[in-house]
Amino acid sequence: MTTRPVATDVTPLQPYCPDCSVGTGHAHREGCDVARCLATGLQRLGHAESCRCPQDVWAGWWPGEVECAEFGWMLGPGLPDLNRLMTTATWDPVTYRWTRPGNPHHDHRRRTTMSTPTTATDSSEGIDLAAGENWIELVPAAYAQPHQVSFPAVIEPCRHHGLWVRPRLRREVAEAVCEWLNLVYPLDPDWYPLARFEDDLLVVFTGKAAHQHEIALGEDGRYPLGELGRWFLSAPPRTRARFYRQLDVLRDTERHAPRSGETLVTCDPDNLPASGFPARIDTRPAASWVPVFRPEIAEAVVVYCTINHDKFPDDHPQVYFDGDTLVHVHQHLRALDGYLPWRIEPDTDGNYRIDGDEWTFHTVPVKSEGNRDSHTTATTSDDGHRTRPGSPA
Ligand SMILES: [Zn+2]
Ligand SMILES: [Zn+2]
Repeated sequence: MTTRPVATDVTPLQPYCPDCSVGTGHAHREGCDVARCLATGLQRLGHAESCRCPQDVWAGWWPGEVECAEFGWMLGPGLPDLNRLMTTATWDPVTYRWTRPGNPHHDHRRRTTMSTPTTATDSSEGIDLAAGENWIELVPAAYAQPHQVSFPAVIEPCRHHGLWVRPRLRREVAEAVCEWLNLVYPLDPDWYPLARFEDDLLVVFTGKAAHQHEIALGEDGRYPLGELGRWFLSAPPRTRARFYRQLDVLRDTERHAPRSGETLVTCDPDNLPASGFPARIDTRPAASWVPVFRPEIAEAVVVYCTINHDKFPDDHPQVYFDGDTLVHVHQHLRALDGYLPWRIEPDTDGNYRIDGDEWTFHTVPVKSEGNRDSHTTATTSDDGHRTRPGSPA
């Protein structure tokens, strides 16, 4: 981390680490949020106890900023696109820096990274959903989502100003939120609050620390954030491991191939054949048909929707797995008081029945599907679905 940047829009050299205050060239103090694990490039606080990486030193710039400037990945002066760096560059544990995709060694290293479970890019790594929790995300600063990260929380039925939810956090999660805010706050102090624990009180500072809010532990053992921050129902953090898993699934053409008795269906008819996936069609008298997906196909459908949701959130649902449960977050219904994401459990065979009008599938017309197994696609059924009981619509 001693290479000088070639671009001019990096932040001016900061003589002291913003977290642990050591001077340039000195090793960060124990527990510093800024220090990186030099084996992975991720936050040192989260690295394995067995990791033997050397101490990271404060180099005068935020970790990764130099590489972003060098690759031209700046969102604006002093605003490195760290999300792009974390999701598309590769950490080189020999030179202690990120390398750009297309580097001759990149592919080899990427495969290595994929099998390593320590590739999360955020302090919420290892925190998963507990019963009754959903992923929430703080609305990102206006700069193209530099730090997408989400946290598990129970949400209160009432929204505020439409979309925003009122989260209730476990202590462990509240601590992770504090750590994360410390990381992102320097990038936009006008936008992000700061927070820390004072004994059992969660203290949140907003508006350049001019306002201080003290949050006490609620009777349910959670910290109610109330209307602090614009949190919305989201999906799990987009870690590198998840990103590469999605790439693998997207590239697996087998997941588009129907087996005997299956029909191609799509929830995005404008983007065939990429959006076509095989399902068993479950028809019942006097009712609309229901697509039933094998688990590996359900995963592929989820990946397809997720990738597209990132680009066109209004046109594609936010879907993810919570263990074996498929979770569907409706882009518009989530703004309604009392809405909770739709949880689709596997049936007794482990398959997923998408039986609800919040997520509509259509059969793929034989002429436009481009698949090799024509005898499985003769089924033509009515489009549309039954209304899900208890739907908040
Ligand atoms: Zn430090
Ligand atoms: Zn390490």
